This record gives sequence, C-alpha cells and structure tokens, in this order.
Amino acid sequence: MSKGTKVPGYMQGKGSRNPRGIIGDREIRYKCSLQNTILDVLRGRPGWQEVPGQNNVQQNVQTNAKQQGTTPQSSKSGFQSIPPITRNSDGDWDFYWCDREWLAQNYDTMFLYEHQKILHFRNHYELTRKNLMVKNLKRLKKQTEREQGKAEGLSFEFFPTTYELPSEYHIFVEEFKKNPGIIWIMKPAARAQGRGIFLFRRLKDITDWKKGEYQPLSDPNREVPETYVVQRYIENPYLIGGRKFDVRVYVLVVSYNPLKVWLYRSGFARFSNTRFSLDSIEDTYVHLTNVAVQKNAPDYDPDKGCKWSTQQLRKYLAAKHGVEAVKKAFKGIDNIIIKSLQSVQKIIINDKHCFEMYGYDVLFDSDLKPWLIEINASPSLTASGKEDYDLKFGLLNDLLNVLDLENRLTGKEKRIGGWDLLWEDGPILADDGNMECTPNGTTASIPNSFLGCHNDRKRQLRELYTAAQSIKKS
Ligand code: ADP
Repeated sequence: MSKGTKVPGYMQGKGSRNPRGIIGDREIRYKCSLQNTILDVLRGRPGWQEVPGQNNVQQNVQTNAKQQGTTPQSSKSGFQSIPPITRNSDGDWDFYWCDREWLAQNYDTMFLYEHQKILHFRNHYELTRKNLMVKNLKRLKKQTEREQGKAEGLSFEFFPTTYELPSEYHIFVEEFKKNPGIIWIMKPAARAQGRGIFLFRRLKDITDWKKGEYQPLSDPNREVPETYVVQRYIENPYLIGGRKFDVRVYVLVVSYNPLKVWLYRSGFARFSNTRFSLDSIEDTYVHLTNVAVQKNAPDYDPDKGCKWSTQQLRKYLAAKHGVEAVKKAFKGIDNIIIKSLQSVQKIIINDKHCFEMYGYDVLFDSDLKPWLIEINASPSLTASGKEDYDLKFGLLNDLLNVLDLENRLTGKEKRIGGWDLLWEDGPILADDGNMECTPNGTTASIPNSFLGCHNDRKRQLRELYTAAQSIKKS
C-alpha cells in the first residue's frame, strides 16, 4: 500500500499489517469541541487532520457505511446489520474530543466503527457528581466490610462524612447533633468552580438555604430543589506558608472492564491566596482553593499565580518529613484512585470506544493523610501560564500516545511519556530494576506509581518508540 492512500481505518484492522484495528497509512481525522490546549495538541500532531464542522454533524450512517462497503458497529455491543437510526454517525472521524453534553445527546443513537475513539463514558456522572460519587463509595465500602471484614473497610476512610440533601437531611441532623461545634461545608452536587459553596457551624446557618432550597415533600407548591451535599469540613488542612492547597491529579481510564488505569506523574497544587484560619469561615478566598475562586481575590497576583508543580510539592514534603512519609502519603492517593474507580466499575457503561481523563482533587490534612474532595471528567485544559501550558500540552500529547491510534507501540508498555500504568485488572509493579528495601531488610517490587516524580517524558518517548520499532520489526 503506497503512502498517502486513503484507506478507512476499519479496513486496516482487517489486514495482517494492523491487527489492532487502528488507522494505518492514512491521516487520522479528529474532531474537537474545545478551543484550548487540546486543540493545539491535536493540530500540532503529525499526520492528524481536523474534520471541518464541529458538534452535531448530522450524517447518514447507512449511506456512509454503504460507500465504505462495511457495516457500522453498535457502540454498545455486537453488530447491527442495518442501524435503526440514521444519524450522528461517524465514519468521518477517528478521534473525537467531545464535550459531555454532546455525548449525552448523541451517544445512544451513535454507531461507531471498530477503531473510533471518543472522550467520556456515557454515565461518567456516577463518579463526577458529588452525591453519586459518595453514594458509590459508601456502597463499595459496605460490601467490602461485609465480604472482607471491617479492617478492609478502613481503606475507604478517605472521603469526609457526607450526606445528600435534601434526601438525607434528617440523618444529617442526627450526625450534626452528635458532633457539636464542628464545621460543615455545603456544596451543590452538580456545580463546579466553587459555585454555590458555603461553610457553616450552626444548623440555623442553613435556615436561609432551607427556605430557598428545601421545602417538605408534603408542600404541594414545592419545586424540585437542587441537590446538595453536606460534608464534614477538613479543619486541619496541611499548610505551606500558612496557606491551604489541594492537589490536581490526572488519571486516564481506557477501559472499565477490565479496569485499566494510567496515572500522570505531573500535576499541580493549587493554593489559596489568603492565610488559613478558622475565624472567618465565610471567606471563600481562605477556604476554597479553586483557581476560579482565587483569581478574583483582591490581592491575587496573576504573575505569581497560586500553583506549585506536583514535583515541587513532593520535594518540599520529602525535605520536611522524609522520603518514606511522602511515599506513604502518595500511596494513599493511589488507593483513592483505584477504590473510587472500582466503586463504579460495574455501573459505568463500558465501551471500548470510550476513554476518560479525570482530574482528581485531593487535599492533605496536617497528618499528610490524603482526602478525596472530588473527581472531574472535564478538568480544565485552559492554561493559566507558560508552565501550566507546558504541563497540559505534554499531558494531552502523552494521552494520545497512550491511545496510540498510530499503532506505533506494542500495547505492553508500562510507561508512556508521563503516564504510568497503575492498574490493569490488578496492581502493576514497576519494572524489575525498581526495588525498594522493606523494613525487615528484604527487597520488594514497588508499585508502578510515580506521582510527583521526575517527568523526563521526551527522552522516555524517544527510547520507547525506538524499542517498540525494533520489537515490531522482529
Ligand atoms: P467544585 O466542584 O465547586 O470545585 P469542590 O468539592 O472541589 O467543588 O470544592 C471546592 C474547594 O473547596 C476545594 O478545592 C477545596 O479547597 C474546598 N473543599 C471542598 N470540600 C472540602 C472539605 N470537605 N474540607 C475542606 N475543604 C474542602
């Protein structure tokens, strides 16, 4: 086949040249709903070409399939000889970085060819809506306690006590009374960027909210109230320079069944602009670390920003508390990632076309214990400065390297650029060379997890591609 010949990806998959069913010699066609770093990455990627026209391209799938002499595959299971609905198809792209709204509107009527890849799983909200995330975690915790004992259940103690409102209001009130004086945080379940969040100490502080938002079921004029979560506020956050921060961790799931998870080495810590204190619980600049909130603070300095790289954070913590303490703290983040994904593993509609890049928000308390705050399915890809841009550009480029639509890798890699394979139907251990001493003097393989470690992604990729090429040749 000569270079430049246009051959549909699905046909490439049938030939012996490309057993993984991904595009061969022709360009890779992509669509993208966002106008930020991801679009730059896609536009800069050699051999990739943008499909004109953005969301909601209406196509006739039957015509499409006929022209290409093949049968489109249902996105859920099996083959459909004649697709029942003839729209939103999609022989015209290979890769789609779509937004969640587009997916929600189109997924159920969409038919995809074998090789096509699309961002988001259909019901990603099971993990990304604050109330559902906690519900799923509580369920898996209970199941684990039942099947493996209370001690195992302790490994789920990484999310603060949380109730959904209004449905669990009465249980919350009981809990509230048992713990007089502690601080609670109220968060709308489906909003983001710190919107609608407030802290309170007394039940009567939420009376206004109750008046506006919560009316008893018996009230015939009741409007459906917005769902909130009320959560125990972490009153002892780890402070650096007197300021609170949380850590953004990037996680890539390429399959839920089997669960296959990659963890990106780099990320950042987002600091609040104002020194931490419990005296002024109404001051969002003290208590909410979202960049969207902090950049409106009166003394916010856009040049200085309020971010540290995860590498910087890890080094700082290691210097202060020692390498072992930091390893333990970061291992806690691995546990959060895996347990949270397992909590929805049976619920997420697993689809081989879908992948998800999550942004986890994790907060350390003063004992360096990590707490899960929330999980985003659309973490911000807009850069707040040069360093942030470089991070996101590398992150997204490496994500495309992991998906490997170009079919340049072997599929057995444990590290691709800055992504380390954390889990594939079980924990992944680092390569043999990476051993550590255990307290009793023996050595043990370490987990393949390097959050906050050196990210020499470009050198690693060069070596990886050379190695993969020679393996494939032989
Ligand atoms: P949003 O989706 O609006 O960003 P989050 O749940 O991420 O909502 O909360 C916003 C910020 O509030 C977090 O980044 C964190 O700084 C702070 N926060 C949220 N929950 C807690 C909590 N339980 N304890 C301490 N701080 C919290």
